[in-house]
Amino acid sequence: IIRMEAVNKWYGTFQVLTGIDLSVRTGERIVICGPSGSGKSTLIRCINRLETVQKGKIVVDGIELTAGGKNVDAVRAEVGMVFQQFNLFPHLTILQNCTLAPMRSRGMSKEQAEEVAMKYLTRVRIPEQAHKYPSQLSGGQQQRVAIARALCMSPKIMLFDEPTSALDPEMVKEVLDTMIGLAEDGMTMLCVTHEMGFARSVADRVIFMADGKIVEQAPPGEFFGSPKHEKTKQFLGQIL
Ligand code: ATP
Ligand code: MG
Repeated sequence: IIRMEAVNKWYGTFQVLTGIDLSVRTGERIVICGPSGSGKSTLIRCINRLETVQKGKIVVDGIELTAGGKNVDAVRAEVGMVFQQFNLFPHLTILQNCTLAPMRSRGMSKEQAEEVAMKYLTRVRIPEQAHKYPSQLSGGQQQRVAIARALCMSPKIMLFDEPTSALDPEMVKEVLDTMIGLAEDGMTMLCVTHEMGFARSVADRVIFMADGKIVEQAPPGEFFGSPKHEKTKQFLGQIL
């Protein structure tokens, strides 16, 4: 469902992605890890065209992103994204946060959009918060709203960029549990995270990035059990 071929990206003269080749099948669950500054966020942001690349080819669900500007809306409708900082609209209620995009870009009626929103808020187990504002919720609850909001667009792919790293420890589990639920339902997911327990139990494949390259990728058993590259060993040594 995702194909990246020889993707290269620069910020000015600094090369942030170097020769990225990556294919993801429908339903596959990928965890991306690696040192700070290795290009993880940049890589997944390319998949919903929050970033553009100068060289190479990216195709998402048959939509070629590198073919020009017209495909941005199409791909955004299919790819949901959840950020480290929840990025909810502070002046809108939880329910309004969830209904905005479906009403604007899917043309749903308010009633329809609210019904869908309540379905997903129930699924992330906070329907009772629908009429509050983001600032009235805990971090874990806000992140679950961010996940529900993305799901309201019926995405085919979900991208997560360190969704738990801004959370207090006791709230990490509720967000990871929500993500595990999504994975069990067959969602195609790419998650940048250093939650290695999550990687072990949920990922089909773990990708290790360093210096803008994919250094190593393997199923979690193999990745954690017998990392091959020196940089991977070093990294795992630091975080495990
Ligand atoms: P972290 O684990 O800290 O989130 P990361 O692997 O997600 O790191 P990126 O955010 O993708 O790394 O950034 C990769 C490199 O690109 C970093 O060196 C960063 O400073 C640089 N970079 C990121 N965004 C920009 C930008 N808009 N302009 C210039 N340089 C940037
Ligand atoms: Mg990042």
